[in-house]
Amino acid sequence: MKLTCVSCPLEYDADANRTRCDCGDLLDVALNSTNSVNSEVFDRRMNSWSTPDSSGVWRYRELLPEFDQQHIVSKPEGNTNLYDAPQIAAWAGVDQLWLKHEGENPTGSFKDRGMTVATSHAMRTGATMVACASTGNTSASVASYAAAAGVPSVVFVPDGKISAAKLGQTVAYGARIIQVRGDFDAAMTLVQQASQELGIYLLNSINPYRLEGQKTILFELLHQLQWRCPDWVILPGGNLGNSSAIGKGLAELKSSGMLTKIPRMAVIQAAGASPFYEAYRSSFRGFEPMEARTVATAIQIGNPVSYTKARRAIELTDGVVEAVSDEEILDAKARVDQTGIGCEPASAATVAGLHKLVRTGVISPGDRVAGILTGHLMKDAESVMEYHLGTGSERRPLAKQPVVIDPTLEALRSVLTHEF
Ligand SMILES: *Cc1c(COP(=O)(O)O)cnc(C)c1O
Ligand SMILES: [Zn+2]
Repeated sequence: MKLTCVSCPLEYDADANRTRCDCGDLLDVALNSTNSVNSEVFDRRMNSWSTPDSSGVWRYRELLPEFDQQHIVSKPEGNTNLYDAPQIAAWAGVDQLWLKHEGENPTGSFKDRGMTVATSHAMRTGATMVACASTGNTSASVASYAAAAGVPSVVFVPDGKISAAKLGQTVAYGARIIQVRGDFDAAMTLVQQASQELGIYLLNSINPYRLEGQKTILFELLHQLQWRCPDWVILPGGNLGNSSAIGKGLAELKSSGMLTKIPRMAVIQAAGASPFYEAYRSSFRGFEPMEARTVATAIQIGNPVSYTKARRAIELTDGVVEAVSDEEILDAKARVDQTGIGCEPASAATVAGLHKLVRTGVISPGDRVAGILTGHLMKDAESVMEYHLGTGSERRPLAKQPVVIDPTLEALRSVLTHEF
């Protein structure tokens, strides 16, 4: 196991405390590829109640960095439902849609899958403090895993730009919070300097061990489908760590012999935070960071750290990148919510993107599609209230306002016959 550069031949020790190559580009964890991978072993581990087998991350450990059991910090995470979503499939215009709900992780987002691996690596290297910059979910996950590991954590958040639930969760788990006057990208730059200068272990997805854990979204999804590959995997893109992780996971599964074909990947951005989409449209000839603005705060990122790796993932999977408006995101979210599944706004970009890609003919009605819902409905109650009760809600087709009545059966009867 070692760290290799994505763009030059330099290599580093697996425990070198660095997140970039000397050339400035990103690092990958290169695994020892001698492990044999066997689906029956994965099946057998499903019967265990104890970690690491019970973790939806460490169950797939032949495809992950190898750590001593004593360093592993696991809650356990993963084991998220894969929902068959026929109503949303019908609305989007495909025959088969599964939604993998990563909001069902211990702290309510897929970040926990990356965090168990990166926090374990932090323990292995003897870290005494961990840190991240975050739009909210990373900080909640960092705070929780640091608490489990017994190390102090510091999180840098953009002042006033994260949801109350996520900030509250982070405070509650005991992290020190530093509110940075500026956006996520400013907080991200500062935390990288802090980790280099002050030796604090960095838990953002620039840390390649985070991406190793996040590969397991895909492993578990395919396991749930009995390793029958869907035609598409769709997910939202912000900092692009997840897109990168899924690309790497697919490449490794293919070379392990577990898959003979791989799905195409579709990365969906919010139109107000879409530098990756713009780069894709120029056939990756150029990349311009932008000032990001969207209701989907988890993907409100204008200068995605993992750009190079995500680009590689799109090229590997013959993937596509699409952008959707905030309105499309919120309507798609209301739709997911009303099936009883529910998700936070950024996650609904997946569903809005699917709808758009079917309309534009990129995804065919007969394609089997797996969409990833990245975060839990309760991560962002403000956006729910705003959609259903806020200004303009009476014009939104899916908005549901409470009805106020006098406390009589008569009034109730009238409401039930006229309004439902
Ligand atoms: C972090 C996050 C994203 C974006 O993932 P990236 O890896 O940054 O692209 C999307 N949705 C939710 C809910 C998230 O927490
Ligand atoms: Zn390099």
